[in-house]
Amino acid sequence: MIQITMPLNFLGSVYREIRQALVDMGDMFDLLGQPAEVVDKPNAPDLKINGGEVVLDKVKFGYDAERPILKGVSLTIGAGETVAIVGPSGSGKSTIGRLLFRFYDVSDGGVRIDGQDLRDVTQESLHAQIGVVPQDTVLFNDSIYYNIAYGRADASEEEVFEAARGAKIHDFITSLPDGYNTPVGERGLKLSGGEKQRVGIARTLLKNPPILLLDEATSALDSETERDIQDSLAAMGRGRTVITIAHRLSTVVDADRIVVLEAGEVIEQGSHDELLVRNARYASMWYRQQTEEDVA
Ligand code: ATP
Repeated sequence: MIQITMPLNFLGSVYREIRQALVDMGDMFDLLGQPAEVVDKPNAPDLKINGGEVVLDKVKFGYDAERPILKGVSLTIGAGETVAIVGPSGSGKSTIGRLLFRFYDVSDGGVRIDGQDLRDVTQESLHAQIGVVPQDTVLFNDSIYYNIAYGRADASEEEVFEAARGAKIHDFITSLPDGYNTPVGERGLKLSGGEKQRVGIARTLLKNPPILLLDEATSALDSETERDIQDSLAAMGRGRTVITIAHRLSTVVDADRIVVLEAGEVIEQGSHDELLVRNARYASMWYRQQTEEDVA
């Protein structure tokens, strides 16, 4: 169990954000005494990974009964495949991520990983197998070392450094006067959006999960930083199953498959080139965005 030194009121205020931002902090829910939305079945076994295939099978879900958000989504993400989910704001992209993490249970259908329904396995084992790089990495008021090592409590110092190198933040950290001991967070050094994301990437590299859920940053990074971060994310994704929740299209071109969600339904899917040839919804979103970028 991690040692958390933040005042509880701060924890309370970040709690909602954390759930929404998909951060892997199952332990914190216990700490806050919040009633869990979902509970493990008695004697539930651990999730066993065999490649990391993710299947959404006719998934229906709404945060409240009157308003369905996902209306029968079926999607198979093969082991090692990189799939980007795109679609208009509010179409349900992040909701799919939350269901994969089992923050909520589906109201109909099922979500399976390597054939095991998420409702049948322990949440602890599920959370251990999915690495989340959220839009906005939450930093603890502690050293930058602690903030990376949080990815895996038993990691050695060399492993923490290696993860930071992989996330291309090691050199930045060692250039600081206090190096890895530099305090960050609210009361410490303020990191830029790109640096924070690199801490998130380092944490996830340390955790080394077979499945990655990337909630792409909506916050504006300059285009060079964004490309750089994309390279780091792509490197991290090799040999893993990757689901990217993409709020913009610029970063999804290289995905093995792009899934277009609209009003809680999958309306088309294929590679970037296939979807452009199809000349339907994705193509119009793509050309509209290109025009907007040209104007900007
Ligand atoms: P964006 O690209 O803007 O982030 P999204 O496609 O990721 O959008 P979701 O976050 O999945 O959209 O939200 C889908 C719908 O569910 C939205 O209408 C949203 O208002 C609603 N919603 C999201 N979270 C909750 C919640 N905790 N309680 C109730 N409704 C919610």
